[in-house]
Amino acid sequence: MSLFGRLRGEEPGLLKRISVGMREGSGGLGEYLTEYALEHGRLPGYVRVFRNVLVPRSVGPTSESEIDVLMLHNTGIYVMESKNYSGWIFGSEGQRQWTQTFETGRKERFYNPIMQNRAHVKALSVHLGLPEDAFRSYIIFSERCELKKVPEDTDAFAICQRDHMLRVLRKDLAARDAVFDEDGLAKLVTAFEALESTSTEEAKSEHVAQAQRVKAGEVCPRCGGELVRRSGRYGEFMGCSNYPRCRYTRDV
Ligand SMILES: [Zn+2]
Repeated sequence: MSLFGRLRGEEPGLLKRISVGMREGSGGLGEYLTEYALEHGRLPGYVRVFRNVLVPRSVGPTSESEIDVLMLHNTGIYVMESKNYSGWIFGSEGQRQWTQTFETGRKERFYNPIMQNRAHVKALSVHLGLPEDAFRSYIIFSERCELKKVPEDTDAFAICQRDHMLRVLRKDLAARDAVFDEDGLAKLVTAFEALESTSTEEAKSEHVAQAQRVKAGEVCPRCGGELVRRSGRYGEFMGCSNYPRCRYTRDV
């Protein structure tokens, strides 16, 4: 039975569980559906799913990286970033901002999800002491949007819509060699459980507040330092208070 078969009510109680599993905010449902699909998708091998974990990081505008969903498997750690968007999606690997276009012609820009999830992988790789090629980045868009122009999948990342996720993943799992044995998996489970236990609701709210300050341009997007008004040879600008360690500047 497909996930959407289940959603149509073929599995009683699912919608109730979804509303319990949902967090406030737009990404909640998408993350829950991704987690549900992974746990019930009858994927081969060892599968363990963790959701909404904060990973400490030393570089970046917030003190943690928040990972939507991650799946531990014999063949690696699959880091999923959910985008619950509608409209048409355009973007390339190197573009900092991607575009979402609506039927009305309205456009919204959003941060390149490949770059966003690369930062998540980086934080996990440092935290766990594993090489980055032990990870695979998945950008999962909802079925409500149309991926008009997005990059082809590479060794490092895959981009798909949620209704194709299990198919893409199955192919991926079959093509990859096991990198973790039973001992390795057990150690990682312990590490992820530790992260889960420190990812409390308070910690997540503080993380969201930090991220909002970055988005509003109130703090430095590179290191999270305060922005201060400075004047230079070419007039006034906003600079990071962690100068010279951080050289971020922007116009006033
Ligand atoms: Zn800075």
